[in-house]
Amino acid sequence: MKSFSYERARTPAEASAAVARDPNAKFIAGGTNLLDLMKLEIETPRRLVDVNGLKLDRIEPTKDGGLRIGALVRNTDLAADKRVRKDYGVLSRALLAGASGQLRNKATTAGNLLQRTRCPYFYDTNMPCNKRTPGAGCSAIGGFTRSHAVLGTSEACIATHPSDMAVAMRVLDASVETVRPDGATRTIPIAEFHRLPGNTPHLETALAPGELITAVTLPKPIGGHHAYHKVRDRASYAFALVSVATILHKDGSGRVALGGVAHKPWRVEAAEGALPQGAKATAAALLAGAKTTPQNAFKLTLAERALGAAIAEARA
Ligand SMILES: Cc1cc2nc3c(=O)[nH]c(=O)nc-3n(C[C@H](O)[C@H](O)[C@H](O)COP(=O)(O)OP(=O)(O)OC[C@H]3O[C@@H](n4cnc5c(N)ncnc54)[C@H](O)[C@@H]3O)c2cc1C
Ligand code: SF4
Repeated sequence: MKSFSYERARTPAEASAAVARDPNAKFIAGGTNLLDLMKLEIETPRRLVDVNGLKLDRIEPTKDGGLRIGALVRNTDLAADKRVRKDYGVLSRALLAGASGQLRNKATTAGNLLQRTRCPYFYDTNMPCNKRTPGAGCSAIGGFTRSHAVLGTSEACIATHPSDMAVAMRVLDASVETVRPDGATRTIPIAEFHRLPGNTPHLETALAPGELITAVTLPKPIGGHHAYHKVRDRASYAFALVSVATILHKDGSGRVALGGVAHKPWRVEAAEGALPQGAKATAAALLAGAKTTPQNAFKLTLAERALGAAIAEARA
């Protein structure tokens, strides 16, 4: 690991200013992703700004009946919160499907959204990767692609986003609240938060340099049957090959988002009109335009079947 300096931020704006001023600085929250990447020298910040002392660890009701989740709320606490379990079950289930108990105790809401891809070539510093080194090339294209994206890919990158929580946030229409170095705040709809790779796969979100996430807000609950179906190689402690977050109502209508298939949680609102017709029709609309390889084409069948299981569970 390269050496680095360490400091604790006292206010969100101070933290934001410190990172915005210095291109070699990064925030650290739970450290469960960043420290691994630093050990492998995939990320080499020379300065770490610890945000754990900021008072961003509360889950509070909003005026319009929703919930405001502080950026530092740990994944364990969010999954266990009674309001989340009752009204946003898809979120609780997605969180509990991720990582391990120890990791969830450290992992934060903001850090989870910002965790980086698990593309094996991204982790192998001997292999070219446009996400690590812009312009270097993509080793996955033409390589081993079993875990890679089938939707929204580009000539530069076919990586997936690994977060389970983000898929649930997408189906819940969450918003990300941030603060900038001058103290100005803004709200980014989750649909616009993660980017598709295009020709700049190293730019993964809508955040500006130094912009700090302060909270994620959920709109008021919409009821329905909430489910999160995650298909993976091991029953626990493994990233999704495909995951399906659903909120389904008695009349068959609802919402669906997919994980493990794209560079961001994949939701196509227009496809949700097909939900009353069942999984086949919905999957056809949701997966339209998919580009597969012989190694990852199975993800299309897996997505349809996982959605079918979620629909059957809601009807039972
Ligand atoms: C073995 C293992 C298995 C895992 N399995 C899963 C899984 O199955 N599903 C899943 O979803 N996840 C999984 N994870 C990932 C885990 O959920 C993430 O590592 C964790 O959520 C990251 O949160 P953190 O607070 O530790 O982030 P950190 O590592 O502290 O930070 C991650 C990134 O976010 C930035 N950051 C942190 N806070 C802020 C903020 N407030 N504003 C702006 N930027 C910020 C940091 O600068 C850094 O770039 C796994 C991780 C490991 C190590
Ligand atoms: S898919 Fe993306 S992350 Fe993986 S090697 Fe290609 S550019 Fe890098």
